Amino acid sequence: MQLRNFPNPGKRRHALEKEIHVKFPNIGAYDFEETQAEEKNCENIIGVARIPLGIAGPLKITHLESKSDNYYIPLATTEGALVASINRGCKAIFESGGAVVDSCRSGTTRGPVFYTGSIAVKNTLFTWVKMNEETIKKLAESTSSHLHLKKVMIRSLADYSFVRFSFDTEDAMGMNMATIASEKIIALIEKETGASCISVAGNFDIDKKPAWLNVIEPRGIKAWAEVTLFADVIKNTLKTTSQSIFDVWYAKCMLGSAMSGSLAFNAHFSNVVAAIFIATGQDPAHVVEGSLGVTTAKVLKNGDLYIAVYLPSLMIGTVGGGTALPTQYEALTMLGVTGNGKVERFAEIIAGAVLAGEVSLLASLGEKSLGKAHKKLGRGEKILKF
Ligand code: NAP
Repeated sequence: MQLRNFPNPGKRRHALEKEIHVKFPNIGAYDFEETQAEEKNCENIIGVARIPLGIAGPLKITHLESKSDNYYIPLATTEGALVASINRGCKAIFESGGAVVDSCRSGTTRGPVFYTGSIAVKNTLFTWVKMNEETIKKLAESTSSHLHLKKVMIRSLADYSFVRFSFDTEDAMGMNMATIASEKIIALIEKETGASCISVAGNFDIDKKPAWLNVIEPRGIKAWAEVTLFADVIKNTLKTTSQSIFDVWYAKCMLGSAMSGSLAFNAHFSNVVAAIFIATGQDPAHVVEGSLGVTTAKVLKNGDLYIAVYLPSLMIGTVGGGTALPTQYEALTMLGVTGNGKVERFAEIIAGAVLAGEVSLLASLGEKSLGKAHKKLGRGEKILKF
């Protein structure tokens, strides 16, 4: 059976059902514009995988560049207790006056690998690229009205050279845009230097793989969030103490991560990042980069707790990719980040939600209620009220 030859998802699904003698009524119950998804987002479509979407909030945050806002966070997940936990973190942040957030764009990276064959050609490549950055920039920017070359970094190993381009791709996450621009630049580099490109993606980007490079030379957007949790909020809402949260943070996020050789010094960034990415049409494979980052905590003299998160590499967009699909677009609308110039704000909301997730999980570990909450919520035993 040639799956691509069927004119629409329904006919393709029926043919598949007939061939393997299994019915897929739920997969087939889709309600989005199938042709748009088939043109841009997925091939051989037979339906949809539906994922529950829960809401946490209000998350009260102050954007450093503007005003304070309350957000309701869309979270697509099948992990029971996750939404309730983030919700509890939002409540503690709200009762402590809100979090402060900020962000900065690093740029979407593409890192082709070239075979130079000799140190001499490697040197030619290095010199030519450094001397011709303006030409490269113009060429890259001819491929899109929304792409700007920000930075070029070159590293060599024996007779291989790795070139890392960073592009500002405005409101798009930009991996397709960066790839198209890089292919143009590569053709010119090959012509001018005699080096040959082995792959447009040479893992020096480094795309969808855990890597320390994405912490020290970030890709996408970096974001920060901080809050000072009041001691009485920690007691009444989180049912624990500042010291207990600090102790868990130190033993888990610092020592435990060091013991494991982890690249992420946090409690569970990936849980929050994954649920928001799926809800809002981001490429879920970029959760790898979104899982990177550091949580810090400090008990203050008055008993309050300062807690902060830093996410170095959020690969997100508010246009392109899966963001225009119906439910995903609605989720972006819920956050008020559709339209131009909102992607940094989106990164800051994600950082705020990640902070809420860290607060709640570290508190829950401190009060030793993680298993209890998952038993009640993740296994449907009884609804807990936070
Ligand atoms: P895209 O949907 O391929 O491209 C974004 C499009 O939006 C471009 O055509 C761009 O215009 C247009 N656009 C309109 N208004 C814009 C604005 N204000 N800011 C930025 N762009 C605007 O998406 P992408 O973000 O480049 O790539 C995301 C997709 O790449 C995801 O689906 C992801 O799964 C996939 N991906 C690809 C690779 C790869 O190697 N190719 C790797 C990882 C992920 P122009 O036509 O002027 O550029």
